[in-house]
Amino acid sequence: MSVGTGQDEKEMRPAAEPGLNDAAGRREREDRDGSVIRYDLQSLTIDELTDAVRLAGEKPFRAKQIYQWLHEKIVAGPEEMTNVPKKLIDALTEKYPFVSPEIRTVQVSKIDGTRKYLFRFADDCYVESVYMVYQHGHSVCISTQNGCRMGCRFCASTIGGLTRNLSAGEMLAQVYAIQRETGERVSNIVLMGTGEPLDNYANVVRFIRMITGPGGLNISERNITLSTCGIVPGILKLRDEKLMINLALSLHAPNDQMRREIMPIARRYSLSEIIPALKSYYSVNRRRLTFEYSLIHGVNDSDDAARQIASLIRGMNALVNLIPVNPVREAGFKAPDRTHVLNFKKKLENYGIHVTIRREMGRDIDGACGQLRKRCSEMETDR
Ligand code: SAH
Repeated sequence: MSVGTGQDEKEMRPAAEPGLNDAAGRREREDRDGSVIRYDLQSLTIDELTDAVRLAGEKPFRAKQIYQWLHEKIVAGPEEMTNVPKKLIDALTEKYPFVSPEIRTVQVSKIDGTRKYLFRFADDCYVESVYMVYQHGHSVCISTQNGCRMGCRFCASTIGGLTRNLSAGEMLAQVYAIQRETGERVSNIVLMGTGEPLDNYANVVRFIRMITGPGGLNISERNITLSTCGIVPGILKLRDEKLMINLALSLHAPNDQMRREIMPIARRYSLSEIIPALKSYYSVNRRRLTFEYSLIHGVNDSDDAARQIASLIRGMNALVNLIPVNPVREAGFKAPDRTHVLNFKKKLENYGIHVTIRREMGRDIDGACGQLRKRCSEMETDR
């Protein structure tokens, strides 16, 4: 009996062209769930790249070469792929643009070496990423969308609304550009920059699979954390991907009533739906959950709030990460003073809850989410 290898079958299969052209010449395809996958060269999986190479009339091994240039050697431009015929590169990049963000600014913290990047992508879209040095490695916080439509009242990223989703290639490009610029190997990734990752589901999951998969940077799934404001269907879908990534929920209020006042998404999904979704996620991958809680003076920092948080999450394998709110000019919120933050921590601990206070990385370089991007677009409009 002859059993075909997966490889042979792949060679036999007629090549389908990945993605379709939209009116602007940008390649996008609607996924089964209605989310739109954006195609550029770095977003193509090895199978898709193989199809594209064969359609251009070249041998499949070229796809492996190109994939290695893009995702292992992380070249900055197509001309650096020196052993690939220029004709093939031109044919591919005409259909699938090479993502090459320009570094507009890098701010370096004098306190802890945190580096905050502002990238500009080809269509004048500005994206922020942050590089942090920890004892256990180098971490990059990436953006998943340009802007955000979740509308959290304390968050600067949401002020101009959502401009567009980022592609998987554009998320990879943030990590790659930082690794090239610092010369350091990135070991951890947090999806906590601008945007709601579960509002750009297909591209985000593609990014996670590519950065953890073979032929790429090979980052461990366990070293990736996705933070969400609580989109329940997205959490359940992510559970079914069976990824070992860590999940963080932006809680920020101990009950639905208060949560609705500061986070519009809470009008859509209540805590009575979110908490079971998180438990269900945990039942599959067994990774400790994180609850992020931005402490806002006079809003969510009372003793009673601590008591309610404790009863909400009691019994779960979870950690509460307290973040003294970063004041955003438009929001008018203030952080409680240090003593109050420590008291709040103590209260939670007395209820048996694990608590950390987020290390304030790069306090001197536009700390709050979205602030750099926002300030820069203000600067551009002022000119
Ligand atoms: N949309 C995702 C991830 C992006 S925001 C989410 O909601 O989780 C990353 C984290 O920073 C979230 O917990 C968010 O609520 C928090 N955050 C946003 N603006 C902040 C601010 N001004 N001060 C403190 N934390 C903030």
